[in-house]
Amino acid sequence: MNMCDSDMLDSVLSTYGASKVDNLLDADVVVLNTCSVRAQSEQKAFSYIGRTEEFKRQNPDLKIVVMGCMAERLGCRIKKRFNSVDLIISAKNIDNAALKIINSCFINNAVKNERFDLKSEIVRYVTIIRGCNNYCSYCIVPFVRGNEKSLDYQSLINECSLMVKNGAREIMLLGQNVNSYQYGDVNFSLLLKKIASIKNLDRIRFMTNHPKDLDDNLINVMAAEPKVCPHIHLPMQSASNKILKTMNRKYTYEHYLDLIGKLRTTVPEISITTDIIVGFPEETEKDFEDTLNAVRTIRFDGLYVFKYSPRHGTVASKMADIVTLEEKKRRHSIVLKESNKISVEIVSKMIGSVQKVLAEKINNGVIESRARGGRKVFVKGSKDHIGKIFNVSIKTAKINSLLGDIV
Ligand code: SF4
Repeated sequence: MNMCDSDMLDSVLSTYGASKVDNLLDADVVVLNTCSVRAQSEQKAFSYIGRTEEFKRQNPDLKIVVMGCMAERLGCRIKKRFNSVDLIISAKNIDNAALKIINSCFINNAVKNERFDLKSEIVRYVTIIRGCNNYCSYCIVPFVRGNEKSLDYQSLINECSLMVKNGAREIMLLGQNVNSYQYGDVNFSLLLKKIASIKNLDRIRFMTNHPKDLDDNLINVMAAEPKVCPHIHLPMQSASNKILKTMNRKYTYEHYLDLIGKLRTTVPEISITTDIIVGFPEETEKDFEDTLNAVRTIRFDGLYVFKYSPRHGTVASKMADIVTLEEKKRRHSIVLKESNKISVEIVSKMIGSVQKVLAEKINNGVIESRARGGRKVFVKGSKDHIGKIFNVSIKTAKINSLLGDIV
């Protein structure tokens, strides 16, 4: 989501005559787009904001902008703590970020140009829904991003069409919960079908999904529409019904398992990835074992595992955080080890298979491409391959990537 917002900001600012620089010391404005989802993300951002004081000493005209969820949550504190920060743009004002930056930082040399010309890139990100209504008990997102708001589907189709006209071959639809997209009569399944009808667009991906909102319609569209890639990121978080209830996730493990079954039956080539939180308040060894067993049973293609950290203002932050950091680390490493073992087994079976890939970029004669299921595939090739779809015979497999030869 943040990458998409940064990308959009870059596009709009470029129409006003601004351009990206490789070296921060050449910049007139530095924009830090921040994330609040975990304590670690905020610590990283704080450390980076701290470093901007040094940039400013070297270039006193430099303007520092902090935007995103952390700006929403801690804007005043950031301003107070760091003299270097000139402008704070909260997550709820991200749509107007470019204008705010132009007015505050570039006002003397801005070249106003109404043309909204997106750069040519093979994979583009499009936010279709902002905010979230789910209020999972551990999550800060609804507080900093606000309630769910689906964006006008016709504007989304126009935006996607323009991106395709400018060279995009794949579009990734984004939202905290894309499944609950609803604009008038258009729900997420219908939106997918409409976007799939855009000529010259080859692939559509989407994330992220909430198990409670994943319905048969969406699964059927994934099966029927070849442009929709067979990959779903479906956060499970825990397999203990007690913990799922405390997390306010609104589904049971049995329901989750049922969805996995439907997905694998209806879309046989599907790749399924997930998120897991370990060490949530009141997570006993038995709850943790349930989650670990679910990882073994479901055999995800990949997963992200997080150690629970309380986010101030959330319901969970008022619960007793009884699992020690040591124990969280232990559970984290067990899940990661198990998941890596499963991933290796899954990718090993891909050796000798032929994968249809889309070439995204090239570096030193090696093309970085992506298979339909989402895995990165590296293959020798030339610039002419970029933006094209072709078959690759897989020779070597690593946990997160595959290597092969063009067939
Ligand atoms: S669905 Fe839950 S975890 Fe995801 S953004 Fe909304 S509140 Fe946070």
